[in-house]
Amino acid sequence: MSKSSVIDVFLRVRPTKNPSNLFKLNKDEGTAEFTIPKNPDQGYINNQIEKHTFNFAGVFPTDTTQEEIFDKIAKDVVDSAIEGYNGTIFAYGQTGSGKTYSMTGNPEARSSAGIIPRTLYHIYDYARREQELIIDVTISYLEIYGGSGYDLLVADNRSRNLHDLPKVQAMATANGQTILQGLSLKKAQTEEDALNLLFIGEQNRVIAETPKNDASTRSHCIFIVILECRKPTSDVKTVSKLCLVDLSGSERIGKTGVEGILQREATGINLSLHFLELVIDCLNRQANGENIHIPYRDSLMTLVLKDSLGGNCKTRMIATMSSEPDDLPESICTCRFAGRVA
Ligand code: ADP
Ligand code: MG
Repeated sequence: MSKSSVIDVFLRVRPTKNPSNLFKLNKDEGTAEFTIPKNPDQGYINNQIEKHTFNFAGVFPTDTTQEEIFDKIAKDVVDSAIEGYNGTIFAYGQTGSGKTYSMTGNPEARSSAGIIPRTLYHIYDYARREQELIIDVTISYLEIYGGSGYDLLVADNRSRNLHDLPKVQAMATANGQTILQGLSLKKAQTEEDALNLLFIGEQNRVIAETPKNDASTRSHCIFIVILECRKPTSDVKTVSKLCLVDLSGSERIGKTGVEGILQREATGINLSLHFLELVIDCLNRQANGENIHIPYRDSLMTLVLKDSLGGNCKTRMIATMSSEPDDLPESICTCRFAGRVA
């Protein structure tokens, strides 16, 4: 019997000036292959060569469009959400590898819009076409930094610091749900309302960031879309939740010179990714028949995602990498992580 996994992992390689010829993708097989010297310090002469091959649910080379990424990775997750199933899409990878480009993209140019705006277009398009279904959309946007949550949907964004944004606290209810206290839930009647909320959130992300305190590389952002769907003739509705997650940079702290940040914060970030991996690993083991406790309560992120991972939920991850020679060690780490959670 083949091993079942609660998450499908895809690899996307971003365009770079100087792609390494020690790396190649095989689109048909869904594999990424690295051919690297065994002892990196010795160079190529008299050095043994090692081959690392990683398998994915799909691999996307540098010329892949944003539309193709949405169609192949996200569209059916959004369709399932309209049918009442929760879903989660993560972007995971080194800083600069294309996580934010994949999730948000460039809001000015529609062709470079990422998964989040395309998800919104898709939902409102569907609602316009399908007169037999009424879809109510509610949006939240949460940033998690150093283990604490912040609300990104405050319109009056005079804050110059992430810590000035309203704080969000997770509370577990008796029936096992998570309530996020302090997180705005904004109704979005039209596509324009929804895109405007995304815009406000992106603004707050940027404003809260300074060169010295580059929060984007060390925080996780979760764009949450809640869908309530019902027929015009009925009061029965389905409620579902989509979590679109731009994870913090996966690079090992130290190498990237994240100097001067509080150690507590540094650990908080790595811990979040660690707890996420742990939860996914436990869910995979559960899917393979093990009777196992899932440690959602260990971090805010896993608490937020609790009802949107595993079970009937569709869960996808886009691992992003660059094939620049200097980035190859981190790119291998990204592929290894992908292999561990898939
Ligand atoms: P991350 O969020 O992982 O730190 P970004 O998404 O900000 O990385 O990407 C870094 C830079 O590379 C940005 O200027 C972005 O526009 C560009 N970029 C990333 N991926 C692509 C891609 N697939 N095609 C074109 N440009 C890209
Ligand atoms: Mg980013």
